[in-house]
Amino acid sequence: MTDTVRLPRRLDAPPPGWSTDVDVIVVGSGIAGLTAALRLREQVDTVLLVTKTVLNEGSTAWAQGGIAAAMDPADSPEEHLRDTLVAGVGLCDVEAVTALVTEGPQRVRELVALGAEFDRDSAGEILLTREGGHHRDRIAHAGGDATGREISRALIEALHRVQSDPGIQVVEHALVVDLLQTDDGRVCGVTVHVIGEGQVDGVGAAHARAVILATGGLGQLYSATTNPAVSTGDGMAIALRAGAVMADVEFVQFHPTVLWLGEAANGQQPLISEAVRGEGGFLVDGDGVRFMQGVHEMADLAPRDVVARAIVARMRETGTDHVYLDARHLGREFVERRFPSIVASLREHGFDLAADLVPVAPAQHYASGGVKVDLHGRSSLDGLYACGEASCTGVHGANRLASNSLLEGLVFAHRIADDITARFAAGELAPATPAAPTGETALLAAEHRRDVQRAMTAGSGVVRSAESLAGADHELATLAKATESDRANPEPAAWEATNLLHLGQVLTTVAALREETRGGHLRSDFPERDDEDWLGHLHAVRRPDGTVETSYHPLPVTAGSEPA
Ligand SMILES: Cc1cc2nc3c(=O)[nH]c(=O)nc-3n(C[C@H](O)[C@H](O)[C@H](O)COP(=O)(O)OP(=O)(O)OC[C@H]3O[C@@H](n4cnc5c(N)ncnc54)[C@H](O)[C@@H]3O)c2cc1C
Repeated sequence: MTDTVRLPRRLDAPPPGWSTDVDVIVVGSGIAGLTAALRLREQVDTVLLVTKTVLNEGSTAWAQGGIAAAMDPADSPEEHLRDTLVAGVGLCDVEAVTALVTEGPQRVRELVALGAEFDRDSAGEILLTREGGHHRDRIAHAGGDATGREISRALIEALHRVQSDPGIQVVEHALVVDLLQTDDGRVCGVTVHVIGEGQVDGVGAAHARAVILATGGLGQLYSATTNPAVSTGDGMAIALRAGAVMADVEFVQFHPTVLWLGEAANGQQPLISEAVRGEGGFLVDGDGVRFMQGVHEMADLAPRDVVARAIVARMRETGTDHVYLDARHLGREFVERRFPSIVASLREHGFDLAADLVPVAPAQHYASGGVKVDLHGRSSLDGLYACGEASCTGVHGANRLASNSLLEGLVFAHRIADDITARFAAGELAPATPAAPTGETALLAAEHRRDVQRAMTAGSGVVRSAESLAGADHELATLAKATESDRANPEPAAWEATNLLHLGQVLTTVAALREETRGGHLRSDFPERDDEDWLGHLHAVRRPDGTVETSYHPLPVTAGSEPA
């Protein structure tokens, strides 16, 4: 590995040409950002919601399987908690999970009251299904396998109903570049680039008493991901540069069943939801042999890391780069009714879920870590909150349980809105003036996005080793020596590429430190889970001199340490 990673304080960007003042800025319009903005709007005077492209762009609209909540009378939050802890392999924060599972059912009911239409049975009850790692049917879904699209639609319609309210302002095509801070580090706004008309165009300064980063995941760090193009880890990189503590970033979930379209495939790839296995689909190798039985008591429905690891092992044994998903026995009528989006997306690529073995391989899917926050969504920087996939609340530990992420966005957005409201009422977070921007700046040319992805996929991907991580570290360090020509075009694609680079450097650093295999972190050179040395969290923080400091925070070996 190279010497300590150094990060600049800011991205190269033109100085702000306009400014605005509000109470709260919400960055991002997925389930986390929309929920926070809608609730805050009822409680504070002015909310500004900015989103990088259009409102329904982001992972939320792509979510297929559903949202997990113990809503069946036979189920209980305690059982949901237990399943979540097992999936998190000893690293979940029990208090955060308790908040998730106990507040979750009510938050889902509120989503229904807001207009989200979940699939129901003939008696009108919400249908609940099962996904990997859940011991109960507790996944509410919509439009069969289009849950995220329906949730996004309902939240955006709710937003449109209040958009004439002077208390809320929504700006699309508004990309947040960096945070504004006071002399003592408090976050008091953002610099934001707007593709607009008139006064609000180009880079501006938006001042606020509190900022919520709800910018989603980092899937575009890898060549193949289920995440859309906007998932470039902006919020995490922005928080990192500003000096916020990051946690658990080495735990990246690779979804086991992503359509395999060949080595050259790049960017967002079609996901085949776990729900297909939940309904009886199973994995086979190239010889048609089932291989999950005997690996885990839940076989094909084992937690995702277990399934992804078994697929990687089988691919290695058979010298192939994919395995197959078999759902043929479920019947055409059933798969077309239950999985209309998956069937349509596979058909576009020439596969018939009802008749073909479908080639699949693991691809990046979810970031379990992110900006470290407490139970109220507060980061280590005063005035800065993070919510949804950009945050690390501790609910996922080393590996997210299926369908817990939409719920996390929902539950913690409420908590954040209520915390900000209470702090405002107590006179905290008074308006503040940002310090003049200082410190180093950087920019990586947009065309290097693919170089970052290649380095991360080869070195910090689904299977890692000291050697592969050192290779990624070296390539990223070389890219970080930006040239003058790199810095020539400060524009959205270059800001995104630079965010990916910064996050990739930190992820690779902490992944190299964790010498064990746990959850989403799979080391070929340390294939076992090692509670004695590694039952704990890795944090990373940028110090004022630009160096990134890592630290290890052990947990007592008994607390929250569930068998995988
Ligand atoms: C294919 C797929 C299927 C999934 N299925 C499920 C499922 O069934 N159940 C489940 O619980 N989870 C699922 N997930 C995960 C889940 O969808 C996400 O974790 C969740 O939607 C994240 O919500 P979010 O609000 O945090 O982020 P997102 O929904 O990703 O929203 C992020 C927002 O931030 C904006 N943004 C980003 N950067 C900036 C910037 N610099 N400036 C301004 N705006 C910015 C984006 O444009 C976007 O609006 C799935 C994910 C994918 C990709």
